[in-house]
Amino acid sequence: MSDARAFDVVIAGGGMAGAAVAAGLDGLGLSTLVVEPGLDGSKRLAGELIHPPGTTDLAELGLLGALEAVGGAPVRGFAVLADGQAHLLPYAPVVGMRPAGFAMEHGAIATTLRGTIARRPHVAVWHGARVVALDASAPDHVGVTVANDAGAVQLRARLLVGADGAASSVRRLAGIGARRRRISTMLGFVVPCGRLPHPGFGCVLLGGPAPALAYQIATDAVRVMFDLPDDTEGSDVSARGRAYLTALPEPLRTDVREAMDAQRGLVSASHSVEPDAVARGRVALVGDAAGCCHPLTATGLSVSTRDAIRLRDALRAEPDVPSAVRRYAAHRAGPQRTRVALAQALYAVFVARTPETRVLRTALLRYWKRSPRGRAVSMALLSTQEGRMSIMVREYAHVVRHALPTLLRRGAERRPLAARTRVALGLSVSTLRHAGGALRGLLS
Ligand SMILES: Cc1cc2nc3c(=O)[nH]c(=O)nc-3n(C[C@H](O)[C@H](O)[C@H](O)COP(=O)(O)OP(=O)(O)OC[C@H]3O[C@@H](n4cnc5c(N)ncnc54)[C@H](O)[C@@H]3O)c2cc1C
Repeated sequence: MSDARAFDVVIAGGGMAGAAVAAGLDGLGLSTLVVEPGLDGSKRLAGELIHPPGTTDLAELGLLGALEAVGGAPVRGFAVLADGQAHLLPYAPVVGMRPAGFAMEHGAIATTLRGTIARRPHVAVWHGARVVALDASAPDHVGVTVANDAGAVQLRARLLVGADGAASSVRRLAGIGARRRRISTMLGFVVPCGRLPHPGFGCVLLGGPAPALAYQIATDAVRVMFDLPDDTEGSDVSARGRAYLTALPEPLRTDVREAMDAQRGLVSASHSVEPDAVARGRVALVGDAAGCCHPLTATGLSVSTRDAIRLRDALRAEPDVPSAVRRYAAHRAGPQRTRVALAQALYAVFVARTPETRVLRTALLRYWKRSPRGRAVSMALLSTQEGRMSIMVREYAHVVRHALPTLLRRGAERRPLAARTRVALGLSVSTLRHAGGALRGLLS
């Protein structure tokens, strides 16, 4: 590394968010440095499924073709399997959205993207290096210290982008606080030639202690992932993973059992991170550094590409970097609030630990079964195509309405009136809480 160099933009992190931002800024002709420690992505259990809005953004950024050339598999939507029934939620009915997303092994996505952006005329990639300090005291630039095994160098940039993941150092160095909560442990296997119950669909399997996910990452390989909630007994993740086997339909169960016999599996923690801000002075946070939630909704990669497009557009509209960064943050806030609320609600409903969430789960499945419009709106929200909190609250209210038959009659839940009233009150409170979130979003 040479000393005392200046770039228009330094990006900490060469994952999906960092690579997408670099591709976007290359289009603006900004000299950009991506700094990436270069950990082995193939040993990491992380994002693989990209919803159609993400693939649309990747195409716009000129990155989709490179991924498709390496492999992967198309994803046509989701299939939720519960109580012996399958609820198919295709992307196709969502107006204005591509009918298919894309999935590929996480390490292959990261390596391919980094290789692709390194060939862009205005982008340099430093591997084996990391951002370790920043100095935001100057009005016209930010000082960035980058370190590798050989030592450290000082750089100057008009903008520093923190694309360094959920535990972002840039966020901490910029003095931006964050609420971080560990939710669960994820255990994942690659299942060669795994036979999905609905090939081409991301399958959410709800018969186990918590949700299991299964989707193709190549024409001849399936990823299976188990969510192991952290507040349940037992630390042996492998043994806990096997408890989910009964929830899988045959022949997938046999395929997964064989994979579990042959592999140790990859383990990863799922967190929710809510930063106090995503912009400060000449520092902007993108991707997981700017907030993340449980991966059940598989939105992190699509949010990362959207962040890249938003930041590019903000810099195009506002030549003054701090103003552009503020504009980026303002455009991002509402959709992020909706994304996080949806992920929290859906995870609680799919894990279904309380009487309220059990009733909601039945109601959600009933809603999807009866309403083609409901399925389409759910997929618009889930894919991040729809980011308005008001739409999420409206859909939540529809689901609560579908809970009424369960609450009004002594049906499957067989609860006395007082208990059903408590459940109804709980649902009303949670609806109001979401409505409050929508109102705050409208007023902010
Ligand atoms: C188990 C699991 C499954 C998931 N499944 C999905 C899914 O199917 N679909 C989906 O959309 N999302 C999924 N996600 C979320 C998704 O992985 C993330 O949202 C996505 O990886 C975020 O990309 P990123 O570039 O912001 O961060 P990361 O992918 O975390 O990349 C951050 C990069 O920054 C680098 N870095 C770290 N520190 C520094 C530093 N100081 N300086 C420079 N670089 C640094 C790291 O080496 C890394 O390459 C999943 C997450 C988990 C945990």
